[in-house]
Amino acid sequence: MSDSTPRRALVTGIANERSIAWAIARALAADGFELALTFVGDALERRVRPLAAEIGAGLVLPCDVNSDADIAQLFTTLGEEWGNLDVVVHSIAFARREDLMGRFIDTDREGFRLALDTSAYSLLALARGAHPLLKAAGGGSIITLTFEGSRRVFPNYNIMGVAKAALEACVRYLAADLGPDGIRVNAISAGPIKTLSAAGIRNFRDMLRFAGERAPLRRTVSPEDVAALARLLATTDGSGITGQVLPVDAGLSILGI
Ligand code: NAP
Repeated sequence: MSDSTPRRALVTGIANERSIAWAIARALAADGFELALTFVGDALERRVRPLAAEIGAGLVLPCDVNSDADIAQLFTTLGEEWGNLDVVVHSIAFARREDLMGRFIDTDREGFRLALDTSAYSLLALARGAHPLLKAAGGGSIITLTFEGSRRVFPNYNIMGVAKAALEACVRYLAADLGPDGIRVNAISAGPIKTLSAAGIRNFRDMLRFAGERAPLRRTVSPEDVAALARLLATTDGSGITGQVLPVDAGLSILGI
């Protein structure tokens, strides 16, 4: 991790004030980070700009992670504006609504491709784009968000479970690649939280209720719970941690049945 001042973080995946990425951006801003936020499309830009103003984020930039040109432009701009970067937060996932219901076996090639491309390959693409800027800072931290559906079957999570498994494998391979440059890569495996993306999973409410009733802590987690670990991973407090999938789930993942 760099000791350059100011520390700089790129935070992707803010759709609205319920987004996990928004809690992370606030936590990093409170820790003194200078922030760049990204958005996809005009509608989200209108939502993200006022949020950026709330936390004094100086840069608000477009980036659809399905577009190599957008990713290249993002890092060109960050290079021109900042020249280096300490932290990248990847808080992005997408699958077609019809692939988040019913039977996994019905997922077609395009649904599979889209979910894996947007939710897993995007980490690799952002890491590659950010690499020279993180290196210029003397090292850094890349943080992504995953879910226990990568390892165990949750009703309707379907293709997203497969995408999260790929994402977690990407974390390990990227950590091995980038470790020699002092760049750490980790995933936070969050318990269910009511957000815009989560609303796309059929019967998500049942998952939320189950988690709140059954988790050892007898509650669900908040975006702020997740952001607290993200802050740790972003700073020198997390300097010995890389290649890991760390749960923030009120203990839910330790249960057998
Ligand atoms: P969210 O607020 O809906 O955030 C998801 C973000 O992904 C949105 O900003 C969305 O933008 C963005 N995104 C989707 N496709 C994109 C693309 N092609 N390019 C750039 N951005 C794109 O939901 P969230 O729950 O905070 O999700 C953040 C991350 O946490 C995801 O990886 C999710 O799987 C993970 N997670 C969530 C939970 C949960 O229960 N909520 C639990 C564990 C892990 P658009 O709105 O424009 O699509």
